[in-house]
Amino acid sequence: MTVDDGQPWAEGPLGQPLRKALGTRTANALAKLGLETVGDLVDHVPRRYDEPGRLTDLRSLQIGEHVTVLARVRSATVTRMRSRAGAMLHAVVTDGAGELDLTFFAKGQGGLRHHEHQLAAGRTGLFTGTVSVYRGRRQLTHPQYQVFGADTGVDEAEAALEDASRPIPIYPAGASVPSWQIHKAVQTVLGPLREDDVPDPLPLTLRERRHLSTRLEALRDVHLPAADEDWRRGRRRLRFEEAFVLQTALAQRRAAVAREPATARPLRAPGTPSLLADFDAALPFDLTAGQRAVGEQLAHDLAADRPMQRLLQGEVGSGKTVVALRAMLQVVDAGGQAALLAPTEVLAAQHARSLRSLLGPLAEGGLLGGAEHGTRVALLTGSLGAAARKQALLDAASGSAGIVVGTHALLGEHVQFADLGLVVVDEQHRFGVEQRDALRAKGDRQAHVLVMTATPIPRTVAMTVFGDLETSTLTEVPAGRSGVVTHVVPASNPTWVARTWQRVREEVDASHRAYVVAPRIHPDDAPAGGRADAASALVETDDVLEFLVEPEDGGERAPLRAVLEVVEELRGTPALAGVPVGVLHGQLPPADKERAMADFASGRTPVLVSTTVVEVGVDVAEATVMVVLDADRFGISQLHQLRGRVGRGSAPGLCLLVSDAEPGTPARERLDALASTSDGFELARRDLELRREGDVLGAAQSGRASSLRLLRVLTDAELIADARTEATAVVGQDPDLLTYPALAAAIAERLDPEREEFLERA
Ligand code: ADP
Ligand code: MG
Repeated sequence: MTVDDGQPWAEGPLGQPLRKALGTRTANALAKLGLETVGDLVDHVPRRYDEPGRLTDLRSLQIGEHVTVLARVRSATVTRMRSRAGAMLHAVVTDGAGELDLTFFAKGQGGLRHHEHQLAAGRTGLFTGTVSVYRGRRQLTHPQYQVFGADTGVDEAEAALEDASRPIPIYPAGASVPSWQIHKAVQTVLGPLREDDVPDPLPLTLRERRHLSTRLEALRDVHLPAADEDWRRGRRRLRFEEAFVLQTALAQRRAAVAREPATARPLRAPGTPSLLADFDAALPFDLTAGQRAVGEQLAHDLAADRPMQRLLQGEVGSGKTVVALRAMLQVVDAGGQAALLAPTEVLAAQHARSLRSLLGPLAEGGLLGGAEHGTRVALLTGSLGAAARKQALLDAASGSAGIVVGTHALLGEHVQFADLGLVVVDEQHRFGVEQRDALRAKGDRQAHVLVMTATPIPRTVAMTVFGDLETSTLTEVPAGRSGVVTHVVPASNPTWVARTWQRVREEVDASHRAYVVAPRIHPDDAPAGGRADAASALVETDDVLEFLVEPEDGGERAPLRAVLEVVEELRGTPALAGVPVGVLHGQLPPADKERAMADFASGRTPVLVSTTVVEVGVDVAEATVMVVLDADRFGISQLHQLRGRVGRGSAPGLCLLVSDAEPGTPARERLDALASTSDGFELARRDLELRREGDVLGAAQSGRASSLRLLRVLTDAELIADARTEATAVVGQDPDLLTYPALAAAIAERLDPEREEFLERA
């Protein structure tokens, strides 16, 4: 190992700069792909594999076939073309029995000099390309080729021949380096590597038990496969490694938090006055069996002196909020405080409102007429007036507010709690691990943490994205719900559209309410949930949700419907004559948002036109209709959430997806899928299949390890589960990975940069 250039020896050959291994020119080209070291290059795994050209003799060539032929050059001539500028090289090759033409074009004769030199008459070589026909003769245009020199031995030629029958790796390439050149470079650096040079994050025993190859073997398999089964085996082994490294990091995180002391917040003894008991007594419904079971699990977790770290996921409308509230009350009963973090101001305000109303006099602790063991609910959002903000901060810091509800404003440094015992993160998908940490760290001891997901997610996604949490699931929705019927409405059919507003009218006449959702606010705006906005989802903006879906056909489409335009239209629609129509979107001042929601809930404006701000968690029992305009521009999960806003009371819900997507297109298939099932887990699975996975993970976990390289959370479900089992065992036995240096190094190397990047953005 050389140390002359100051490279630490410990990095070994993988740390060697490509400049040294391949020369400056190639290294510079590869640097444009972000590849600096030998290690970077060998980790640059082929995207896919082309089938090798079929070795064949020249007489049996089929037009259109992709072939590789072994032949000798009979002649090669360069001619200037008469018809257009440029030059052409025309070569004839033969295998003794048949003949084949090769043609190359270039701007000038200079551009052909290299080929002319290579294809000297008499030389033998391998030529790969697709057979075409010109003037009755078979030819390959711009074939790839490799010619052997006069001194090429028989062995070498045979090796080349064998090479030509291998799968051809196709690399993620750029303009500066074509795929074949990357392949050559990988071959050069991979050749001299020995087992000791390539640290393997997979422990030896694990590898043996699972019959997995070494990392070096896997790299050879994916870069230099002799047959398809080689690269398949190699890729599988690298995927397992990726899952294992990620799961080990998550297991370490779980273990580290579990080692921290937390304050136990046990249930009050039966018979003693308690907020929780009073709350339960006042609940207007019975808890479902699932709610009770999860409730017991949470009560048990909270009574322990190590921090709870739990993910609660469940079908839309399964009643997650009540479960969370009961956990919060248990903590307040035990003398602590609870914080409830909501993704939007609308939702935070709604939570505060419903908490206060459910608690009644119990929420007037310390006030005249308030219950003696009562507490207070404080609301803290970014846009509070100075006085209200000061009061909320004071209530949190003094402990007089047992429950503090807020948006991410709660994460601010100046927000202090007297004794924070539980953090509940509602509708998790917009809060990342780091934000959870920020809240957790608000006390001098670890707070218990409960995270709730907005949408059901497949188990392995939960395992990957929220792998540091234990999971509880609510599968049933409370009895007595009549469910939601979903229809797709063709936007181009005036009769259907008129019928839509007629249905809205009928519901309003029956004292029900209707939501109308459009993808953007102003007619001349970009979509409210556009990609650019998504990156700033951590900034408080109520409209930003998941990405809007790009239209697949890329063709011209009618402009997207806008909230402000739709309001005007509805106010002039005969079917809705006399019906007050409200407006809600993220750009409204907070007081207006509050009023819009309150007026809708009370029925003063029974129709509400809004952006997706109503997507998560908004709860108005009388709402029965959800009309989504340009529905094909929303993701499946998002539409499922929107639909979950209706049919929450005893009256059946109706969801109308208005779209001009043609039947049979992927966009329309998404909508048909929604109309055909109400199983959120099933829909989440289809959603993942249809979207680019990176987007899903990226959005869901706010940057953490979002760039899964080879792993696919859906198709690799079993592998991820296995990796998690193995990782948990390894961490249980050696939490700091002292005996697994290669694994520790892989975690530091692969996962940390993304974390840092996230922190910079936040
Ligand atoms: P989500 O799981 O989607 O967050 P919510 O917690 O918002 O669901 O609950 C949806 C609605 O169902 C709320 O109005 C809530 O009060 C009501 N609810 C919750 N649990 C029950 C139950 N066991 N029986 C009847 N209604 C319930
Ligand atoms: Mg909810």
